[in-house]
Amino acid sequence: MRLVFLGPPGAGKGTQARILAERFGGRQISTGDILRDNRRRQTELGHQAEGYMQRGDLVPDDLIVKMIEIELENCTNFIMDGFPRTVPQAEALDKLLKEKHLALDAAVLFAADPQVLVARLTSRWTNPRTGRTYNTITDPPHVAGVDDADGGPLIQRDDDKPETVIRRLQVYEAQTKPLVAYYRSSGRFVEVDALQPVDAVTQQILKLAASRQPQAAS
Ligand code: ADP
Ligand code: AMP
Repeated sequence: MRLVFLGPPGAGKGTQARILAERFGGRQISTGDILRDNRRRQTELGHQAEGYMQRGDLVPDDLIVKMIEIELENCTNFIMDGFPRTVPQAEALDKLLKEKHLALDAAVLFAADPQVLVARLTSRWTNPRTGRTYNTITDPPHVAGVDDADGGPLIQRDDDKPETVIRRLQVYEAQTKPLVAYYRSSGRFVEVDALQPVDAVTQQILKLAASRQPQAAS
């Protein structure tokens, strides 16, 4: 399975990528998680990305594309969550996949109303080590602040505060939404209603992905 997940921050891309990768295999490639890991380890990439992330802006395409090249070195099945986020990133991904004689099964848009997303993001709690997320309203952990899965501490991301969330939604509209036209014109586009409960979204993705004929790599 080779899928990319598009959609505004908070739409549930990471939640679904984790569920599908666990259930069906393939690697979850979350550029946000990789960048946060680099920031924690204080790598050169982490330093370069930090200011953009804190402001809610996108990290420059050249840094992101380099990360993806590394991720795809030994990987043929994946779910990308948070990449691509610009048309140049999508073009770079197409080029990389073509070189590897691979094709995307689908680009899945998570459609959601921005008002709901602000509420989802400001109540999101994340395990910084694994990227697993909870939601204090819809999906709280059994013990507040503690991950059910590994007992590790949960934190609120520094870019999930209301003013940064609003900036990220604006950045999505300006820079990422054009990808809808990009993928629609290539015939790989499907759309799910991201406001449904988690299980219903999973079922809808599986149904749509199964209905698509795998494309022959050219
Ligand atoms: P994204 O990766 O698109 O930014 P997440 O998967 O991190 O979004 O989800 C954002 C927040 O919304 C998390 O707190 C998550 O638990 C919650 N969430 C995800 N999917 C749903 C859903 N279908 N219904 C309600 N809450 C959801
Ligand atoms: P996310 O975890 O997907 O919400 O991403 C968090 C932040 O990481 C974003 O607000 C950007 O600053 C940065 N980021 C993640 N993925 C990308 C990408 N594909 N292109 C540019 N910046 C990204």
